[in-house]
Amino acid sequence: MMEFPGASGLIMNEPLLWEKGSAGRCGFSLPRRDVPFSPVDEALTGAGPDFPDLSEGDVVRHYTRLSQWNFCVDSGLYPLGSCTMKYSPKISEKQVGRRGFASSHPMIPALLSQGILRIMYELERTLCEITGMDAASLQPAAGAQGELAGMLIIHAFHRSNGEKRTKILVPDTAHGTNPASAALCGYIPVPVPSGVNGILSPDAVASLMDEDTAGIMITNPNTLGLFENNVAAIAGIIHARGGLVYGDGANMNALMGIVKPGEVGVDVMHLNLHKTFAAPHGGGGPGSGPVCVKKHLADFLPVPRIVMEGGKYLLSENFPGTIGKVHAFHGNVGVMIKAYCYIRLMGPEGLKRASEIAVLNANYVKEMLKNVYHLPYEQICMHECVLSDKNQNEYKISTLDIVKRLMDYGYHPPTVYFPLVVPGAIMIEPTETESKEELDLFITAMKSIAREAKEAPYILREAPHRTKVKRLDETRAARRPCLAG
Ligand SMILES: *Cc1c(COP(=O)(O)O)cnc(C)c1O
Repeated sequence: MMEFPGASGLIMNEPLLWEKGSAGRCGFSLPRRDVPFSPVDEALTGAGPDFPDLSEGDVVRHYTRLSQWNFCVDSGLYPLGSCTMKYSPKISEKQVGRRGFASSHPMIPALLSQGILRIMYELERTLCEITGMDAASLQPAAGAQGELAGMLIIHAFHRSNGEKRTKILVPDTAHGTNPASAALCGYIPVPVPSGVNGILSPDAVASLMDEDTAGIMITNPNTLGLFENNVAAIAGIIHARGGLVYGDGANMNALMGIVKPGEVGVDVMHLNLHKTFAAPHGGGGPGSGPVCVKKHLADFLPVPRIVMEGGKYLLSENFPGTIGKVHAFHGNVGVMIKAYCYIRLMGPEGLKRASEIAVLNANYVKEMLKNVYHLPYEQICMHECVLSDKNQNEYKISTLDIVKRLMDYGYHPPTVYFPLVVPGAIMIEPTETESKEELDLFITAMKSIAREAKEAPYILREAPHRTKVKRLDETRAARRPCLAG
């Protein structure tokens, strides 16, 4: 039996930089001064902070130690549901670091940036092929911004028809950003309850759809990790009353090469390159949430758009219906280059296989754990499965206790208490890049925790035990963060 990766050995303590160092210590060497000494004019610079005097070694160790307190996809399984924290091949990182890309500047004229523009143009075409859509803009910097761009496009479409609709339907199994994006665009989000099987029914949509409703936002797979199999029928209902269908494609990782949303009635959707296409989600890094549309919405896309004229890639603002710009310059180009590299590396068959394995892995975890943890929706899931703490409540153990304990075993906790339709939800997305051995080890850890919940619940209530900091007051951590250490 393999050992769990969790350990608390060699985790170094590290003080603040201000508490380190010693006066006169220096991190660089300069030639001996051969000009007269001249003090810096304090009136110009102000008194300024008193920076610590540190050696190069002090600084390197400081930041290396801090980096080792972090958990990342490169250090272990990161089953954070809805975030697709899969291993991303390093070749994409290497490409984006090439000098031609890294030292390029968005203000270089289009005719001298043909390489990057070509990559962006081809990436747009490829994403349209993957989604079954007709045109795309790579500008939005994240999924939520892609949603907002999509909402603005829906609004512009209705305005161009002389209509002002005020509502958007948002199922209770949509991602949390969906109602927020609709509201930010000035729409009133109207909740649609999902059916008993966790799936949206055409009847529920039909009873709420009217001529004052601009459209619907459907997350597919939904936040229960289930496939919405009534999208075509629902799109029929929405279209019949003049509305549009927004598809939240952030979790395209489950569908690549299997379903094209554009072929089942979706009019506008976004993708998360920083989930599905070789950049990890979260961590505050740059993202990219391209918005893809069908032909009838193409004129409303953000500008500038990349157009091909006389064999050259050019940037055009000549789209009178456009919603305008949503990001400086072209968006986060580095993430796009990584995605392009990943897609070329995988090819159509590889992408399809990735989705198949992502779905297989999630179902494997679900099947292995469903006798220990409560499974609210008993059916085949897509890329993630949602369990709950219902069985453990009997021992006064909650989801929070379970996932805190998981850290002692060396795993990042799954997404918890979301979606809201499942009380005490534990949402696990293993992704396609984990081997069977890794999954088995994780499953064993989850089972071991369930046993502890029964036999020694006090261990869970005080978990984690082996981490750098123990259980934090999460409300205080959010409301009154202590940024000084
Ligand atoms: C992650 C996610 C989003 C939001 O993406 P961000 O890049 O975090 O803004 C939207 N919808 C779904 C379904 C997601 O999983």
